[in-house]
Amino acid sequence: MAGTITLTMIKPLAVSKGHTGAIITRIEEAGFRIVAMKYTRMSEEQAGRFYAVHRERPFYGSLVAFMSSGPIVAAILQKDNAVDEYRRLIGATDPAKAEPGTIRALYGTDLEKNAVHGSDSDENARVEASFFFSEMERF
Ligand code: UDP
Ligand code: MG
Repeated sequence: MAGTITLTMIKPLAVSKGHTGAIITRIEEAGFRIVAMKYTRMSEEQAGRFYAVHRERPFYGSLVAFMSSGPIVAAILQKDNAVDEYRRLIGATDPAKAEPGTIRALYGTDLEKNAVHGSDSDENARVEASFFFSEMERF
């Protein structure tokens, strides 16, 4: 199948609220193919590395604590123009400003606990995919 990849995480609060199945359904109904998927929990060190580009930002400490607070679902998704298409499906960073019907509008709680992560470029998608998945875990 043609296409590029993006990396998503269903964040801890969306998982603990029981939105995992609904979010995966939306992803598949939007035409993404699941290349890899795992249920896992990041340590603070791992979450800090994943979000290292934000380390100077005021929200970094809280974000790292939140993202390591419980299990997440990480997945590699494939589609034509996957990065932009997925960001369109999830909506704006702040769920209150996300388009109605987007995953963040539907399942996000606040600016930090906004249900899902999505890569912001093809290059970062590759780096983030390799953070979670080996070649043998991709299909
Ligand atoms: N975030 C936050 N406060 C902010 C901006 C971002 O808590 O003012 C969190 C939020 O969980 C977001 C993540 O940091 O998803 C990464 O921020 P980014 O600007 O990369 O947003 P995204 O690419 O996730 O839309
Ligand atoms: Mg980002």
